[in-house]
Amino acid sequence: MTKKVAIITGGGQGIGEGIALRLAKDGYSVIINGRTQSKLDKVADKIKTAGGTAATFAGDVSDRSVNEKLIEKADSEFGRLDVFVANAGIDWVDTVEGTPQEAVDNVLNINLKSQIWALQTAPKLMRKTNDGGSIILASSIAGMEGFEMLGIYSATKFATRGLVQASAKELAVDKIRVNAYNPGIVLTPMWDEIDARFSERKNVPLGSTRQAFIDGILLGRGEEPEDVAKLVSFWAGFKLYYITAHSIAVDGGIKF
Ligand code: NAD
Repeated sequence: MTKKVAIITGGGQGIGEGIALRLAKDGYSVIINGRTQSKLDKVADKIKTAGGTAATFAGDVSDRSVNEKLIEKADSEFGRLDVFVANAGIDWVDTVEGTPQEAVDNVLNINLKSQIWALQTAPKLMRKTNDGGSIILASSIAGMEGFEMLGIYSATKFATRGLVQASAKELAVDKIRVNAYNPGIVLTPMWDEIDARFSERKNVPLGSTRQAFIDGILLGRGEEPEDVAKLVSFWAGFKLYYITAHSIAVDGGIKF
């Protein structure tokens, strides 16, 4: 049987790494993108050691041409594309009023434009095999409620949900499904940074912001990348053709 192919952006650590490892276990050939080659190599080595197939492609996906090259890599290396996970993203912790222009541009470019470029570049290769496809974007619980000090970040994650709905309508004719995952408090380097910035800005002890959020989770623990990866695996799975246009909270019970 032909091996299916998945691209994961921001796959050098955190949630993206968890998704890459999961999809490789599921039998996909994976192409891992991120900005730091050494991190990508480590994830690819883990996959290969476990008997999976992995390739890497370093580059900043806020640049449209990097997305084009990423798709070309999937075509030249594997000849097809079944799943694209636009996971790369950054946080910014500040009030809306206090966020400098450069930071606004950076968060919009990386979180939002990279997802637009994914939606503009991935479908063409997915159509090549006429097998449909699955495009999965990273949103957040901050895309369901605007959180204090995360306003610019939240704005990009709300925008993701609009992109999902419009693109799902446009791409359904090609059997390409578009969905987004909305994680909660995932214990990745991103939350280390958010927690540290809250401590500075609010003058509270390190770890206390994250703990306060975790205390409000119904299932009583912080989230692991694998929790998100299981949802992505379910969506990517080609036994499941009948979910599109959704953004789903995978947060242990925070937003409902
Ligand atoms: P992380 O910071 O731990 O990892 C993100 C990865 O993306 C890093 O490897 C980084 O180098 C890469 N990246 C950043 N900008 C990039 C760019 N321009 N081009 C290519 N790669 C880039 O973050 P994470 O916690 O794993 O988050 C992954 C996604 O999930 C993000 O979109 C984030 O907004 C979203 N999310 C995270 C949480 C959480 O609690 N951690 C919650 C909700 C949503």
